[in-house]
Amino acid sequence: MNENTHIASRTLTEWKETYPLLHQLIATEEVFWVNGKYESFEKQVRSISAEDVKDAEARLMRFAPYLQLVFPETTETNGLIESQLVPIQQMQTYLETSHQVEIPGSMWLKCDSHLPIAGSIKARGGIYEVLKHAEDLALRHHLLTPQDDYSIFDSSKFRELFSRHTIAVGSTGNLGLSIGIISAKLGFQVTVHMSADAKAWKKELLKSKGVKVVEYPSDYGKAVEEGRKQAASDPNCYFIDDENSRHLFLGYAVAAYRLKKQLDALHIAVDREHPLFVYLPCGVGGGPGGVAFGLKLVFGDSVHCFFAEPTHSPCMLIGLMTGLHDQVSVQDFGIDNKTEADGLAVGRPSRFVGRMIESLLSGIYTVQDEELYKLLSRLTDSHAIKLEPSALAGMPGPVRLVSKPEGQQYLTHHDLMHKLQKATHVVWATGGSLVPTSIHEEYYQRGLKIADS
Ligand SMILES: *Cc1c(COP(=O)(O)O)cnc(C)c1O
Repeated sequence: MNENTHIASRTLTEWKETYPLLHQLIATEEVFWVNGKYESFEKQVRSISAEDVKDAEARLMRFAPYLQLVFPETTETNGLIESQLVPIQQMQTYLETSHQVEIPGSMWLKCDSHLPIAGSIKARGGIYEVLKHAEDLALRHHLLTPQDDYSIFDSSKFRELFSRHTIAVGSTGNLGLSIGIISAKLGFQVTVHMSADAKAWKKELLKSKGVKVVEYPSDYGKAVEEGRKQAASDPNCYFIDDENSRHLFLGYAVAAYRLKKQLDALHIAVDREHPLFVYLPCGVGGGPGGVAFGLKLVFGDSVHCFFAEPTHSPCMLIGLMTGLHDQVSVQDFGIDNKTEADGLAVGRPSRFVGRMIESLLSGIYTVQDEELYKLLSRLTDSHAIKLEPSALAGMPGPVRLVSKPEGQQYLTHHDLMHKLQKATHVVWATGGSLVPTSIHEEYYQRGLKIADS
């Protein structure tokens, strides 16, 4: 690739002239990008409404008795797939000391890493979409009325129906896990198309649940493309399209209403004087995009959402900054999409999500893999919470926001500087509880080594 290579009708040189940040992105340096298209949420035209999200929430409520029955780990939450919000004061102090900055306000961790059933944020969107599909099928085949107790999904009649249907998905790992586990439980046949980045233990775990795993030597985009193609040739196959799914998005968005309840219970105010900052690891965009959208519906302009991407996979950043969305991949710009953060190893962002968030997202920063490992070890030591590398991407967010010139400009521009003492920072921990102990130990040791060097 050279400077005259054309990328979506312009040369690389022209792109760099228009967006100088590309120099640093291509050099895989850590960057902080503030979204120039950000505007007040109240003013925005939306194609998804609060009612749509409420409808998704109600669907999950209907399924709660079923989930509680077949996944006893959801008993504590009455069949809801929900995670804890925990204070991480020690981590905050560590970040302040190691970066020599003050982080005003208080830091919390949203532990989607420990969501029941699938141990990652994918347990929200992925499971929701499968449940929606199962409900649609059951209604169409007159096995169900909306008034029924959904425990009846755990019956041979339902399993027999679903056994004649297939669910397929392309994934770097965690989406495959969540969809594979719930689909197999309902009785569907499941095929998961997995990219080269997918970790071996994730593939093994799926196979042990009776899921068909198809492996690809290339990246996530290819796995999705192949899965989509194969599914299209089978009328009984339902393809969960991580790059374009409104249902996934809605499933993720429900998280915001649940978070509101948790904050209320803790008497944590979120309003003009008490801003909420949320830091979300981003792959293709569906998970963080859906959550961010939901948060905007709930908290409006009082919430500020930032995404975090690996320095080697800044696909959403490039897609939003250039406005090209899925028309470009990081590889088009000579970035290799090679990262240990397998959940974020995505080279091309979702256009659907990009369009949904393009004026509600505050910004995106990038993180090096080494930093993720270091933070992983730290969090293990300070709070005994085990995450996978991808899930740590949100952790440096508050430091970046208060210390980077671009972050400070954002705070000043939105009149937030003097409100920071009353701010709440929520770091979204997106996965990790299913990581086998021995593999987490390897991550941990690696993080210690990096910290020492
Ligand atoms: C999938 C995933 C994300 C990001 O979600 P996208 O929908 O791909 O943007 C973040 N962290 C982990 C651990 C994930 O598995």
